[in-house]
Amino acid sequence: MVMKMFGFPGIAFATAFMLIRLPMVATAMDQSPARLQPPVACIPGENCFLQQMADMTGGPGVSDPFCGSASYDGHSGLDIRLRSMADVSRGVEVLAMADGVVVGARDGESDRLVRNQADAEAVSGRECGNGVVIAHGGGIVTQYCHLRKGSIKVKGGQRVSAGVILGEVGSSGLAQFPHLHAEMRINDKPVDIITGKAADGGCEQPAVPGTPLLASEFASALGDGDAVLLDSGMAGSPPSQQQLLERGAPPLPNASSPAVLGWAWLANLRKGDRITVLLTWPDGRTTALQSSKPLDNNKADYLAFAGRKRIPVPGDYRLEIAIIREGKALRTWRSSYTVE
Ligand SMILES: [Zn+2]
Repeated sequence: MVMKMFGFPGIAFATAFMLIRLPMVATAMDQSPARLQPPVACIPGENCFLQQMADMTGGPGVSDPFCGSASYDGHSGLDIRLRSMADVSRGVEVLAMADGVVVGARDGESDRLVRNQADAEAVSGRECGNGVVIAHGGGIVTQYCHLRKGSIKVKGGQRVSAGVILGEVGSSGLAQFPHLHAEMRINDKPVDIITGKAADGGCEQPAVPGTPLLASEFASALGDGDAVLLDSGMAGSPPSQQQLLERGAPPLPNASSPAVLGWAWLANLRKGDRITVLLTWPDGRTTALQSSKPLDNNKADYLAFAGRKRIPVPGDYRLEIAIIREGKALRTWRSSYTVE
């Protein structure tokens, strides 16, 4: 069984804070930061993930800065996601990427997961949700969106240093999943913070000269927007996207579970990719094998699972997940679980 997830593309992310007029920054600030510090206190690939980057096309069609598909039409920033609202509740800090002056901050917007057009319309004009805008001099501005309600720690006019806590990751405004939208603009034009490419110049352009880039260790851990495993595990009944987004991973199966499943939640799969979920029971038999059909489209996120309607046997299980691209295993993940 494979479930398609993330059913409604096409909601454009309007650039928020359009109404904030940036003050002319004094010459004392005109020293552009050489490097941008990580905007989230997280470990990419472990508890946060690159979900989307800026769209480089400047018109119809979509291309991320690496000429891949981890973007959507008109998107102007970098989305660093958490897995679930349970992670939001634990509190993951959003940090200033460079020294600067706060030119706008908003709090009070609810954290909710936008699921349909009505939800999107309900946050019209407040797409950024709870957010912060910082001016860094030299025409460079950074913006931080979708922060957790009640978490904003800075005020307009406040001078901040790189690494200062601005708030926490949330899902306020136009957010389908908990994440930080981090955006840099140079003279009002969005520029990708990993590659330094302007958001309307095409993915093959060179970096804008002199552009500060995200700290290289953090950027390389985020990756280039190709497929990542958000989470995986075993469950005693089929998981759902909603369950994963709201509460995180389901519990392991137990003696009263109606079924035994292995599941994989992946992001940024490409058209034609196939997903394999292989669960090996304690006696060594491979009792759940699933190899999906080639995906009919790029998938921002995707849930695959395989299992049996059978009461679990106690013992050690092994789960192997693979993405097959053009006939070869692009990436493979292995994990093991003890069911009691
Ligand atoms: Zn975004």
